[in-house]
Amino acid sequence: MSDALDRIVAGNRVYAQRTSEHDPNTFVEMGRGQAPEILWIGCADSRVPETTICHCKPGDIFVHRNIANCVHADDLNVAAVVEYAVAHLKVKKVVICGHTKCGGANASLADADLGVTLNTWLHPVRELRRKHKAELEQLADDDARATRVAELNVQQGIEVVKQHPTVRQAVRDRGLTVHGLIYDIPAGQLRLLDDTRATGGSGLWTPANH
Ligand SMILES: [Zn+2]
Repeated sequence: MSDALDRIVAGNRVYAQRTSEHDPNTFVEMGRGQAPEILWIGCADSRVPETTICHCKPGDIFVHRNIANCVHADDLNVAAVVEYAVAHLKVKKVVICGHTKCGGANASLADADLGVTLNTWLHPVRELRRKHKAELEQLADDDARATRVAELNVQQGIEVVKQHPTVRQAVRDRGLTVHGLIYDIPAGQLRLLDDTRATGGSGLWTPANH
């Protein structure tokens, strides 16, 4: 019986063979470089693999994923990814994607001690929960509250990303846009938080209080 490691290596062999059969040039072309148009900042959750759920191919989406798709202003990791994607790869869109059933968002509904690393990481999300306490208490259950926290966290992440000097310059100089998404795991559907078709808006997410 194969273990998880055997399965992923064997899976890669199948992927490589089938991809080459379908288009023998795929890997040669990929070896020449990448030109993704989208930077995706998402959750590390195994059920939200951006390239798969968006029916895209390797090379289409530049990715940063972490617990609860957080964009902390002092996080050098996410800042480096944003800098490289925007200044060097010149992506056209930055998306931040939260999701339903998010363990990080759910854990942020309470103050259980998860250890110093996770407590520190989730602190800003728990602060969001505290800030929006009244609104969250109106919701039906913890599932709905966690989804709302995920939305608020995406919106906060957008505000942080938009303050990045490289992002500000790219928005000004070449029309880079920043968007929020929520992926509904049980439905398998992405929802755009700034759906301009519904609102007639500019395409840029704008916080209600600005
Ligand atoms: Zn998550």
